[in-house]
Amino acid sequence: MAITASGQRVPEHVVIVGAGMVGLATAFFLQERGVQVTVLDKEGVAAGASWGNAGWLTPGLAAPLPEPAVLAYGIRAVVSPASPVYVPPAADVALARFVTGFLRHSTAGAWERGLAKLVPLNNIALESFDALHAGGVNAETREAPFVAAFSMPGAEELLVHEVETMSRLGLDVECEVVSGEEARRREPMLSEHVHTGVLLNRQRYIDPGAYVHSLADAVVARGATLDTSAEVVDVRETDSRAEVLTADGRIIGADALVLATGAWLGRLLRRVGSRKIVQAGRGYSFTVDAEAVPDGPVYLPEARVAITPIQGAVRIAGMMEFRRPDAPLDPRRVDAIAAAAKPFVRGVDVEARRDEWVGSRPVTIDGLPLIGVTKAPRVYAAGGHGMWGVTLGPATGRLLAEQIVTGRHSPVLQPFSPLR
Ligand SMILES: Cc1cc2nc3c(=O)[nH]c(=O)nc-3n(C[C@H](O)[C@H](O)[C@H](O)COP(=O)(O)OP(=O)(O)OC[C@H]3O[C@@H](n4cnc5c(N)ncnc54)[C@H](O)[C@@H]3O)c2cc1C
Repeated sequence: MAITASGQRVPEHVVIVGAGMVGLATAFFLQERGVQVTVLDKEGVAAGASWGNAGWLTPGLAAPLPEPAVLAYGIRAVVSPASPVYVPPAADVALARFVTGFLRHSTAGAWERGLAKLVPLNNIALESFDALHAGGVNAETREAPFVAAFSMPGAEELLVHEVETMSRLGLDVECEVVSGEEARRREPMLSEHVHTGVLLNRQRYIDPGAYVHSLADAVVARGATLDTSAEVVDVRETDSRAEVLTADGRIIGADALVLATGAWLGRLLRRVGSRKIVQAGRGYSFTVDAEAVPDGPVYLPEARVAITPIQGAVRIAGMMEFRRPDAPLDPRRVDAIAAAAKPFVRGVDVEARRDEWVGSRPVTIDGLPLIGVTKAPRVYAAGGHGMWGVTLGPATGRLLAEQIVTGRHSPVLQPFSPLR
């Protein structure tokens, strides 16, 4: 720990647990401020949710997950394995607590209050990717037309309302409603089933696995130590430093510690006195070839499916399955996503799939991330972004690094305190 002329204590070495988008972006921005970083992961770079996700950088859609539509949808509908939101019927006590709290936050008022807290973070999401690029992350972010497609007349109103609310709350985003014909002209992959489209401007996308590996390469090239065989089983603070204990018995210490373990965050947070629940909201994806690969992301809100052009093919993603993060891939969920997407697309054989994948979104009860200091003053949390950890990872890392190094608490992060 260094001490500045004004008496401010500045960490010289920080350990980050979790080599996903959030942990690595935090490592990068700490390095920008001259801090030595060690990144630990139990499995590898992008081994969690940061690999097979849809890769949308869409601050214009990044809203809290608990929303009135969840209530309208009805909890009874979600116990079917084919449902896009799935809660296993034999739920345990912790899951029951999560579902109860989540439903309590699924009101229009709570959604808009949460959104107002997110908008300032959403506002700096894309420029934070530009800062990564300027600092040596080679993988590209692509700006592209973003098309949402609907089969039922009027079904687009909910999305338009969300985007208009974002805009009213201060986000630079606009949308335009177009006919099904115009949506098909823009994205010939869309079928005759599509009645209406919504176009969103100023959004981007990435190949998330390639991007996060490129971020890891940049962090290592700038001098970080990256250890991908370090499963952290405990966290503690001594008088002079913060320490982790690994499953193979090592103790690794530093001036400060950032817990960025995605859907596994809750367990380590409890070790430093936080009772916040982080539930795995598991999503699935697969890749297929397409006769007309879209120019940018395609969203099918009625099917709850996301489509992204990746490496000359299309990744199709969806599902929200509230189970433990390490449960095996359930092929019924992949079938359900394929069946939901099928009527909306043409020139795609959804049965000829490869790279089937499951990953766990870190979901909180109020739909807001957990960013900031915990009850242990040298231990910080960075996670719980649910559906939007890719979009918001760099903005999170940037503001948290500032807080750790300068001690200044950005008002943007204040609503996301893990102690809220
Ligand atoms: C199907 C799907 C589609 C999605 N689409 C998008 C999208 O288009 N845009 C978007 O913004 N977001 C999207 N998301 C959400 C996004 O993927 C996540 O919010 C984000 O990846 C979370 O990043 P993270 O770094 O917090 O966690 P993770 O990427 O899960 O990283 C956590 C890391 O911590 C490690 N770890 C865990 N426990 C320990 C331990 N005890 N010791 C050491 N290491 C540990 C894990 O191995 C893992 O590598 C999607 C998610 C899914 C599932």
